[in-house]
Amino acid sequence: AREAEAAAPLTPGALADGTSVPLLANLGSPKGTAEAVELGAEGVGLFRTEFLFLSADEAPSVEEQRESYQQLLEAFPGKKVVVRALDAGADKPLSFLNDQPEENPALGLRGLRALMANEAILKDQLTALAQAQENTEADLWVMAPMVSTVEEAEEFTALAKKHGLATAGVMVEVPSIALMADELMPRTDFASIGTNDLTQYTMAADRLLGSVATLQDPWHPAVLRLIRQVGAAGIDSGKPVGVCGEAAADPLLAVVLVGLGVNTLSMAPAALADVRAELKLHTLEQAKSIAEAALTAATAAQARESALKAAQQS
Ligand code: PEP
Ligand code: MG
Repeated sequence: AREAEAAAPLTPGALADGTSVPLLANLGSPKGTAEAVELGAEGVGLFRTEFLFLSADEAPSVEEQRESYQQLLEAFPGKKVVVRALDAGADKPLSFLNDQPEENPALGLRGLRALMANEAILKDQLTALAQAQENTEADLWVMAPMVSTVEEAEEFTALAKKHGLATAGVMVEVPSIALMADELMPRTDFASIGTNDLTQYTMAADRLLGSVATLQDPWHPAVLRLIRQVGAAGIDSGKPVGVCGEAAADPLLAVVLVGLGVNTLSMAPAALADVRAELKLHTLEQAKSIAEAALTAATAAQARESALKAAQQS
């Protein structure tokens, strides 16, 4: 029986009432693709491309990039694969991208800001992605990291489309763009909330600094209120909103996120099973009540506790 269970295909992510919640994988290189598929990933919600750049003294060639992207896309025929443009700066400095030392790298020339200042690198990356897509069956989506303004979102979306990439969106990891979600969503194809950075910037607490680690908690109602705005803007505009930060890997928080209007969840493949199991326990109406319980709390601890209580009743 145990063998039969192991061989049974994993069911797609869904709530108790059948509402579909695709469960996707976060990947940091094409190496993890087989494991992700095995664990039931329905696609890739965040492909971090930094691995191609980090150990290099110069930017990788278009051909080198195409090869990696194609390897990734080939593992997911007919499935959605969201590739993030290079997210350098701050904790991931690159000599050829940002050569000026900064006192506050998390607030400096990083993510899309660095790419816009070095547009040739972004253009090469988009070219390589477009070429990889031509050779495969995957549904390729591209997104920009560290977007702060609506203009940046428009500029990236337009540039990606000019390169022949049909679906272009942005990450919501900065409070300014979360607060502008209603203006953002009509101007791009989708949003993916990066709760790691969104929490860091909302709480003004360096995510890499142990002494302020207790503030790096995506359960904080301040973070949840921002996510609610993005979820609501997604629903109003009919555009998809995903979460690809660590928050999506916390089973109860995943239910809260869906209750706030999030359509897809992307996480480290090892977290997929627990999140899949928890989602199955609640209907969409219940997820909304659980989200409401968390949202109306005053502290992160109370939000978690209230959500847990509401979940036990559902
Ligand atoms: C995030 O910030 O939540 C995110 C998914 O991106 P990264 O962890 O790579 O900064
Ligand atoms: Mg981030």
